[in-house]
Amino acid sequence: MRDGVAEGASRGVAILGSTGSIGKSALAVLARHRDRFRVVALTARDNRAVLSQQRVEWSPRLAGLVSERGPELLIEAATHPDADIVLNAVVGAAGLDATLAALRAGKRVALANKETLVMAGDLVRAAAAEGGGELVPVDSEHSAVLQCVTGRESGMARLILTASGGPFRAWAAERIARATVAEALNHPTWRMGSKVTVDSATFANKALEVIEAHFLFGLSYDAVDVVVHPQSIIHGFVEFCDGSVMAQMGFPTMELPILYALTHPGRLADSGVRRFDPVAVGAMTFEPVRTDIFRAFQAGVAAGRAGGTAPAAFNAANEEAVAAFLAGAIPLGRIAETIERVLQAHRGEPARDLETVRAADQRARMHAREVLS
Ligand code: MG
Repeated sequence: MRDGVAEGASRGVAILGSTGSIGKSALAVLARHRDRFRVVALTARDNRAVLSQQRVEWSPRLAGLVSERGPELLIEAATHPDADIVLNAVVGAAGLDATLAALRAGKRVALANKETLVMAGDLVRAAAAEGGGELVPVDSEHSAVLQCVTGRESGMARLILTASGGPFRAWAAERIARATVAEALNHPTWRMGSKVTVDSATFANKALEVIEAHFLFGLSYDAVDVVVHPQSIIHGFVEFCDGSVMAQMGFPTMELPILYALTHPGRLADSGVRRFDPVAVGAMTFEPVRTDIFRAFQAGVAAGRAGGTAPAAFNAANEEAVAAFLAGAIPLGRIAETIERVLQAHRGEPARDLETVRAADQRARMHAREVLS
């Protein structure tokens, strides 16, 4: 066990969203560890060409397009008897049922679908407890926190999630409000899918991540802070009760948090990531979030604090507004405005079951579409 991961039979991995940015990175990681992992299921939304190539390379027992077979395909993959680990890299609310089903079936869910936890954090935790499943974050900031606290969970007092600041970190508010799709997708440090890249530009992503951290690590919102760190070298800090702080760092790549989600609490050599070099990093800087300008962040964290169905409404309004922005229908500034208006009108209630969460999600989407039209 020199590298901390037991030898033995290879573990089956199902990848939901295999043709997206996270899915492709995951297959690159798995290609280095074919002796330890085998791909048992691959699903994609509608990218037939890439899925066909992946199918030839990996010969999974199950592969398909959600556009052809419907959302049941995600459940089938998430509960596949040969899958030990389910990497959920579906974008948005569409990933929720698969996460719940996998946890109930006792799987490890490597979660790259933060919207799932934001919508229904308590239900997700209950599903894990019920079925013996386990939730391990793929999000780099949350992976950082997990890596800092594993083996020393008891003294955790506060998290500080880092934010790159996105492409508009230092722009004036009126210029950000008119930013184009191309400008929003030009992220300075991370190459990601378009939805999360726009979320990074508006800081809605960081609000989703604060809520995600609250549910993953069981901390109050007062104990989850965010700092802007443009170099994206430190991915997260954990402050312990005695004031000592640990940070996890490395050059920005999703391959490491993906691999760690597969091997936690162990580690594998040959991660394939660029070796760390402090001299190449140079200066690391930190700034507060400009909360007066990035209003989606404030609105999202407020929804998290309100709890109940408010985070689901926040997520739904954001998804609708981002889709409209990416379609060229609204300027960037309308995203935060839409979120604020939907949340102002939202009548919150406890998120007691999936039907309640879904109804809140649907109401928020309808209201967002009205605001956007
Ligand atoms: Mg992240």
